[in-house]
Amino acid sequence: MLGYAKDRETTAATVRAVAGGAELVIAQFNEPDTVAHVFGPDSPEALRRYGGTDRYVGEVAESLRGEWGDWALLVVSDHSQESVTDTVPIDLHSAAAELRREGSIVDEGAAAVVGGAMADDPSWMVRVAGVEGIERLGDRSVLAWAAPGRYFAAGQVPVRGVHGSPRTAIQVAVVAGGHPGVEELAARIARPAPAVHVVGPGDCRSARHPLPTGLIDRPRQSVLTSDGCCHLETPCIGVKFCV
Ligand SMILES: [Zn+2]
Repeated sequence: MLGYAKDRETTAATVRAVAGGAELVIAQFNEPDTVAHVFGPDSPEALRRYGGTDRYVGEVAESLRGEWGDWALLVVSDHSQESVTDTVPIDLHSAAAELRREGSIVDEGAAAVVGGAMADDPSWMVRVAGVEGIERLGDRSVLAWAAPGRYFAAGQVPVRGVHGSPRTAIQVAVVAGGHPGVEELAARIARPAPAVHVVGPGDCRSARHPLPTGLIDRPRQSVLTSDGCCHLETPCIGVKFCV
């Protein structure tokens, strides 16, 4: 759905990789996110999807049965979702146009990142109906998030579930397997979430921010550098994950 692989296909490819002798397999089960966006995170359709994907994870675990002692199985989410109750989106773009300042707005569901000169004085954002809060990410970038039930978009987008607000930063993590490193992995993953560095347009200094989700759309490149961080870059925003 929406260009992502079906969870059934992901499961088959994962099981094939294990059977083929792979030592590290990373798989993304995307359908729970997509179905929750379309029908809402608490909808019967989404609940059925969560159960279906849970069974696929079970199939992957089953495929490890013969060599359980060699494997660590980590299942993690990247965010939760919240229901949209007001289908009229929050329009930061129209309010920004009246300011006549250069900059950019990246709508990301229940949050938006505003960069450039229009983020110099962000007080206008909290006057836009539906904006619950703002937080400065860097000298020239500001995160704005929506009140519960609302979302950001320049035009009507038919969604019933969104993520991006601090409320959706909740994570789930399950660590299993018989590998001797499993306990250490579980202890590490239980520590606080990785920090995120967000750099707005024209802003070379990064700011630490504890929101690890939802700020990136279609990363252009991903480079693991000598400082051990993963750097993702888009034309307007750079984000650096540091564990
Ligand atoms: Zn999503």
